[in-house]
Amino acid sequence: MKAAVYYAPKDIRLQEMEKPKPLTGEVVIEVKACGICGSDLHFYEGIKDVDINPGIILGHELGGEVVEVGKGVEKLKIGDRVGVEPLIGCGTCEFCQVGKYHICPGLQTIGINFHGGFAEYAKAPQEKVYKLPDNVSYEDTTLLDAYAVSVHGINRVSVDVKDVVVVIGSGPLGFTTMQVVKAAGAKKVILVGRRDENLEIAKTAGADITLNTTKVDVVNEVKKLTNGRGANIVFECVGGLAPTLGQALQMARPEGVIGIIGAYSEDPILDFWSGYFKELNLLWVSSYAKWGGKPEFEIGIDLLASEKCNAKPLVTHKFPLDEITDGFEALLNKKETNAIKVAVIP
Ligand SMILES: [Zn+2]
Ligand SMILES: [Zn+2]
Repeated sequence: MKAAVYYAPKDIRLQEMEKPKPLTGEVVIEVKACGICGSDLHFYEGIKDVDINPGIILGHELGGEVVEVGKGVEKLKIGDRVGVEPLIGCGTCEFCQVGKYHICPGLQTIGINFHGGFAEYAKAPQEKVYKLPDNVSYEDTTLLDAYAVSVHGINRVSVDVKDVVVVIGSGPLGFTTMQVVKAAGAKKVILVGRRDENLEIAKTAGADITLNTTKVDVVNEVKKLTNGRGANIVFECVGGLAPTLGQALQMARPEGVIGIIGAYSEDPILDFWSGYFKELNLLWVSSYAKWGGKPEFEIGIDLLASEKCNAKPLVTHKFPLDEITDGFEALLNKKETNAIKVAVIP
């Protein structure tokens, strides 16, 4: 099969690999779509979040059709349309035993530790493979990872009808968080971003109000929109090197809650005194697992199936496997391309 293999930053090679064979309990999927995640981009750029072995096929945001099933597979059959949850805990530690495999010390990820979806075929254990309802497309599956993170966000930071919520970030996680927060019933959702093109999409994708941080003082605007008090909840969905966590602390009302979703490549700049005097609650949101026994990944699928969330406007770019490097470059140069989610379509 054809696969895009990671060797080093900016060195992803298209080559022939052996098609995966299913072990007991595993299924092989013909990949129909695989998203390029921010973490994949970090590997491509050479920003080290985690160690990655040369020779691995990246890609953990995948969906496709089941083409082969291993022994003992009961819940899936050949021809099923599926999405794949990439996180695999050890299964035995104290966290895994209560469904919190995202904080398992032995957590492994398909597309990072095992071969992933930037290939014609991929395999996964059956319990991580979910059937897709008819109205959830393969392209939608490239955003299930982000929806699951956002679902975990509202699991950590509960949102209800009284809340004015600010979401900072107009990348995939900003958009999915905005939609999930709306679906959870927030009174008003304000999306803060840097690019007008993305903010236009945000208006059609569910934001009540959008603010361009390059054009207005977003902290003041949020205060104005909340009778001078500030937002009940702020989700920071940018990370990297952005000064947005400090802004989040400034725009929250006293006793407000900050959900930290963005992954920072250096320790973020905090506005200590805002947090201190307002007694803010900072909650970290890393990845996802189960919520009340139900996989948050599956809750994401349900939200798309019920049309409470809509992934379609978020897939802005598609590239065939042969042109995967162009896909990475499109995401790297999002200032020019306005890419939100880039999908590789083998
Ligand atoms: Zn991801
Ligand atoms: Zn574990």
